[in-house]
Amino acid sequence: MTGAPLRLFNSLTREIETFSPVHPGEARVYSCGPTVYNYPHIGNMRAYVFADVLGRTLSWKGYKLTHVINITDVGHLTDDADAGEDKLEKAAAANKQSIWDIAEHYKQAYWADVRALNIRQPAQWTVATDYVPQMIEFAEGIADRHCYQLDGGLYFDVSTVADYGRLARAHTDEGEGRIEAVEGKRNAADLAIWRSTPPGETRQMEWDSPWGRGAPGWHLECSVMSGAVLGFPFDIHTGGIDHREIHHPNEIAQNQAHCCTNGLNDAANSGAKIWMHNNFLVERSGKMSKSAGEFLRLRLLIDKGYHPLAYRLMCLQAHYRSELEFSWDGLGAALTRLKRMVMQVEALGDAPPAEHPKFAPILEKFDAAISDDLNTPLALTALEEALAMKKVDAGAKLTAVMRMDEVLGLDLGRVRRADLRLRPANAQADESEINAALARRKEARAAKDFARSDTIRDELAAKGVEVMDGDPLGWEWKL
Ligand code: AMP
Ligand code: ZN
Repeated sequence: MTGAPLRLFNSLTREIETFSPVHPGEARVYSCGPTVYNYPHIGNMRAYVFADVLGRTLSWKGYKLTHVINITDVGHLTDDADAGEDKLEKAAAANKQSIWDIAEHYKQAYWADVRALNIRQPAQWTVATDYVPQMIEFAEGIADRHCYQLDGGLYFDVSTVADYGRLARAHTDEGEGRIEAVEGKRNAADLAIWRSTPPGETRQMEWDSPWGRGAPGWHLECSVMSGAVLGFPFDIHTGGIDHREIHHPNEIAQNQAHCCTNGLNDAANSGAKIWMHNNFLVERSGKMSKSAGEFLRLRLLIDKGYHPLAYRLMCLQAHYRSELEFSWDGLGAALTRLKRMVMQVEALGDAPPAEHPKFAPILEKFDAAISDDLNTPLALTALEEALAMKKVDAGAKLTAVMRMDEVLGLDLGRVRRADLRLRPANAQADESEINAALARRKEARAAKDFARSDTIRDELAAKGVEVMDGDPLGWEWKL
């Protein structure tokens, strides 16, 4: 494989480890995907930008990547630790729609965000409801030795595997309060792997099983889909840092039971060699909450005029293991930074590809940065260093920049300065109107008719258009 050894932080060992694939030359990655009961918020999308950068880095290093992301359309309860209602059943009841329609609608909305953020398509999207027979089979395989039945369904006894909760380790306190009290549970942390439908009730989504009609548990789903598509053990399992506390420890326990492995001293016994978690995007005023009216989803950013790739850049500016605070100012700064890059790329025109040794040290620096647990903030500075180089062949510069953008995914080869203009959805003036007014203003200024020039400026201001004379980025106006 090319460049520096790839070093990644493994949440299971809490150490940076050198990536060494299970199958030589390959990298198999599973990312916990969205629960499609509502629109994803931009924090959720940070998780997929992170997984995308990981996948792109593995490809850059020369591994043949198989990336799987699941779509959870059944079984995820309103509380991660098995309490509450099924999120999709609840959304369907609230909207008086079928669960299948709800799931389809929000899956499409999620995919639209994936495309807008230039997240590469994984090799496979696994949809939970397509894997129910395999889930039943998996549960049957571990039921005798690891599970017990209660009225509510089939429960997994976490004391039957070694090191339960090791992934969560220092953080078990956070999870404790959220564990469901169910009569008959042997251990507080035991989880339902199959939820039987209570007698006399029917659910929109239910299947026959040896434990009665019902639905699979959310944790079971990911164990089954990851193992079915990638084979145990696979290389890397990803998710947001909240999954380190409950969902992933539960997946790991099921995987241990299924693979008949016990202790977690060999990390591969958990089903995956490396477990990686992105930290949260936070927003102080609570706009990330999906129960708030106008919550922060990508569409809101776009409607306010921000190009979605400005949000991608905002994510890349922070290391994935650091908390990232969202602010509109921060997003604006990312947009300006992106504009600067795009203008520098545009200035190169369509120079033919070329290689030049001058760029080798920068590419090496870039490779070292991403190989160091995906240090994207540093990698971005290498990209900008290349863009700033003077007196170099344009084709060679473009080649080096595009090479780095394979990992960063800012789509620098396609996005144009004009695409990045702030264009709020509720703008009262369209672009041709603005350009015509600006042309008239130019004429007035050329004729030294400053009163007329100011009137035009005021008319534009009344429509929310700010004329920007002498803007360093060459913008004549903004909305
Ligand atoms: P969910 O649809 O709730 O299963 O979440 C989808 C993904 O988003 C999971 O990997 C979560 O861990 C992750 N996630 C949830 N909230 C945030 C956040 N505020 N910032 C970053 N990732 C998040
Ligand atoms: Zn999962």
